[in-house]
Amino acid sequence: MNAPASSPVVSPGRYYQPQGSEVDLFLHASQNRLPVLIKGPTGCGKTRFVEHMAERLQRPLYTVACHDDLTAADLIGRFLIGKDGTFWQDGPLTRAVREGAICYLDEVIEARKDTTVVIHPLTDDRRILPLDGTGEQLQAAPGFMLVMSYNPGYRNLMKGLKPSTRQRFVSIGFDYPDEITEAGIIAHESGIKPEQAHSLSRIAAALRQLRDTDLEEAPSTRLLIHCAHLMVSGLPANIAAEAALTQTLTDEPATQAAIRDVIRALL
Ligand code: ADP
Repeated sequence: MNAPASSPVVSPGRYYQPQGSEVDLFLHASQNRLPVLIKGPTGCGKTRFVEHMAERLQRPLYTVACHDDLTAADLIGRFLIGKDGTFWQDGPLTRAVREGAICYLDEVIEARKDTTVVIHPLTDDRRILPLDGTGEQLQAAPGFMLVMSYNPGYRNLMKGLKPSTRQRFVSIGFDYPDEITEAGIIAHESGIKPEQAHSLSRIAAALRQLRDTDLEEAPSTRLLIHCAHLMVSGLPANIAAEAALTQTLTDEPATQAAIRDVIRALL
């Protein structure tokens, strides 16, 4: 398996609308060299927040989208074979440790369990990363910060994160923004008119009431932005909403009908 994306990203002016004290918390965690765990449903702004904070702190950011085949070697690095023989290639975590960057493990709960072995010594005051392959023991550069996120939605309840891992982090709980804030985000991201953005955020608030009953996952801010983009580019609202919301959220005909009712009433 190839190492995940490993070029650092410094996001130019990433817009982020705070929802509470998360920005301050992150800044203090960084100052105190504490790792951060961000919990929240999909598409609620976790990744955007980390991008924004990396930019604010002027640190490179290595983002790794975790999946169930992701191993410790994908994070740390591995020997590769080139035309001059074998050579070591750092993974994104190792690069971040060397450079004093932020390493963001998105949806960390998906990754193989062996990844926690490499995370642990980086999250206590030793801040070290042993590289078994090269025999090095890396001391993290001062700016290094480990950030992980996961979605505690019901599919993940069983998997959980081991207490021995989660108790190493400062945790920040995220949720979807309130209606007004979300309307502002939708308008900013898509260029849609404020009244239409507000209709979309009202629809989301109504559909999120269904979250625990009919829908596996509530509509995310991301979906609302997709819908807004389709509307801004000229699609009629009902067609945009059918594609971006109804069909995306469920395959169940009865639930689709309930969603259409909400959309018809509010859009
Ligand atoms: P997550 O990482 O939680 O799955 P993202 O950070 O990718 O979600 O958010 C999805 C999209 O929603 C972002 O690309 C951005 O357009 C928008 N978004 C959500 N919350 C915010 C916020 N608080 N400020 C700015 N944009 C946001």
